[in-house]
Amino acid sequence: MNILVINAGSSSLKYQLLNPETQQVLAKGLCERIGIDGKFTYKPEGKQAVKEADVAMPTHNEAIKAVLDALVDPANGVIASMKEIDAVGHRVVHGGEKFARSVLITDEVMAAIQECNPLAPLHNPANIIGIKACQALMPETPMVAVFDTAFHQTMPPAAYMYALPYEYYEKDKVRRYGFHGTSHKYVTQRAAAMLGKPIEELKLISCHLGNGSSIAAVDGGKSVDTSMGFTPLAGLPMGTRCGDIDAGILQYLMNKYGMDIDKMLNVLNKKSGVEGLSCVSSDFRDLENAAGEGNQKAALAQEKFAYEVRKYVGAYAAAMGGVDAVIFTAGVGENDKIIRSLACKGLEYMGLKLDEAANDVRGKEAVISAADSKVKVLLIPTNEELMIAIDTAALAK
Ligand code: AMP
Repeated sequence: MNILVINAGSSSLKYQLLNPETQQVLAKGLCERIGIDGKFTYKPEGKQAVKEADVAMPTHNEAIKAVLDALVDPANGVIASMKEIDAVGHRVVHGGEKFARSVLITDEVMAAIQECNPLAPLHNPANIIGIKACQALMPETPMVAVFDTAFHQTMPPAAYMYALPYEYYEKDKVRRYGFHGTSHKYVTQRAAAMLGKPIEELKLISCHLGNGSSIAAVDGGKSVDTSMGFTPLAGLPMGTRCGDIDAGILQYLMNKYGMDIDKMLNVLNKKSGVEGLSCVSSDFRDLENAAGEGNQKAALAQEKFAYEVRKYVGAYAAAMGGVDAVIFTAGVGENDKIIRSLACKGLEYMGLKLDEAANDVRGKEAVISAADSKVKVLLIPTNEELMIAIDTAALAK
């Protein structure tokens, strides 16, 4: 079964054609600068990547058309015809409280996704455009929506409610939703396989640490708490996002510097996090280099980030009444042994002991805790496309 996975942004579109049963990726690539000057990248398995600039892509429709043409191209294609695409899986950022799992896309589903637009104004409209473009070109092919928020819909009210007047939840749907759900779901399933235990019997803490970062407490395969909130600004400090801060700071800074709320949020989303703190970069590789050269602020940004990860690990172990394994994934989690080491520091009291030699590894599944560590520490590369393809195949069947 071949599944086309689409992740549409406002001016870009990532795609992958894969077989979820064999996990073979037939081709993948990226359309960028849609509506501007169209850049197209296509990488068929086992062949050279094709890169084209100035491809006419006034809308997402032309971008999808370019993808489909490349997939069936006689020279570089990987399938003989579009009939070999059995279904399309679309990443959709926000499913609100309406979607607790992936769904086959119908007119009613499209309307419900649209209703979630105000909750993710930068993402959902682009996701909808991507779906419509595929529907126009592949009207007979089943389409599935896979939501970033769905996995966290199992959180109990004590975890998802904010201590705000209740009417803001009832009338305005203000609550914790959480994001990165597809990644947390994938790595926790892989963790159960690595540990050789049914997921129903495991308490797991999944640390998705990338440019955007979130941590989830997953008890028996169900998300029971997560660090991102109503928006992806909450929780851990990130590349350029501040994470949790005292809301009173907004009033203080806005009054002092005459900033309106949009300017303030621009600072919190784009100028804060480890970049704001280090005055160096949002990229953890740059922080490591700068800290190595004696830059104190870069070292502080690393320490602050790892400290907040460690606090969440402790908090979620308390929330679940224990933890069997802590998982590190995403760009930083998979590659940065310093951050993993700092984050695990001092957790021996709760039975978590990192093996520094085993931790000297990158980008592949590995157990990195000491042999006598009661709590296992796992490195698991995430694979959101595969998770989307698995969900899509199950629903399309
Ligand atoms: P993601 O958002 O999951 O794609 O993660 C991207 C981030 O991962 C980058 O901004 C870097 O900070 C981080 N990263 C990628 N490779 C490395 C590496 N080798 N060492 C440390 N951090 C890395």
